[in-house]
Amino acid sequence: MQTIYTLILAPNPSIMTGPGTNTIVLGGGHDGAIVIDPAVDDAAYLNTLIAEGEKRGGIRRIFITHGHPDHIGGAAALRDRLGAHIPIYACNRKGVPLADVEVADGETFPAGEDTLRAIHTPGHRFDHLSYYLERQRILFAGDMISGITTNVIAPPDGDMFDYMNSLQRLQLVDIAEIVPGHGPTIANAQDKIAEYIAHRQLREQQILQTLEVLPRGTTIPEMVPAIYVDVDPKLHAIAAWSVEAHLLKLEKEGLVERIGEKGWALVEPTA
Ligand SMILES: [Zn+2]
Repeated sequence: MQTIYTLILAPNPSIMTGPGTNTIVLGGGHDGAIVIDPAVDDAAYLNTLIAEGEKRGGIRRIFITHGHPDHIGGAAALRDRLGAHIPIYACNRKGVPLADVEVADGETFPAGEDTLRAIHTPGHRFDHLSYYLERQRILFAGDMISGITTNVIAPPDGDMFDYMNSLQRLQLVDIAEIVPGHGPTIANAQDKIAEYIAHRQLREQQILQTLEVLPRGTTIPEMVPAIYVDVDPKLHAIAAWSVEAHLLKLEKEGLVERIGEKGWALVEPTA
């Protein structure tokens, strides 16, 4: 019997991708195979994807979670290798210019005996889609959820306000297993999502507290070491994106304001 999906680790490990990108091959039978996130243009890796696709009736469709290079880097090469015109599906061409088909929120696609549903989950990037295998209740979460560390929400593409809404949206989905874009699969899906929300809320509290203590107009590089006390300074640049993303969310909510070019402060309650 065939496994529901096959996870193939792309050969692109880095500080941002952890062990590399998880590429998924699934489906089979009448409609052929689906590949999610062909990550890199690497001959041996593409051969593996194609061979796995063959076992499932050949690759017919390529799905992209979002337009970051480590999720689309192999899409064009894979399509070229397959010869026949294999459509690339993504949220929109603004996010993934090489997409053939733009996928609407809630759109479904046959995947072997199951159905794959696209769920628009912006936040990590504006064009982020998660793919939910309905009968098996498996969520291919792209960079919404990470199996290794908390994922990066970096402005301007990333938006913490949207991200929190997307996490809350996933709380309404009955998920048995999360297959993230990076790192190991997650069995306690809703625990993990709740943990993510709690983690972000804690960071938000820390940011508000830091702004309370530091002088008005304090900058992000001044805030980061105060918030990420136990984090390797090498990661402070990444942390700065996250702080900025939180500040933009808090600004949208009317809790913080900009002071001059780069400064931030709490909005003072009006008397
Ligand atoms: Zn990404």
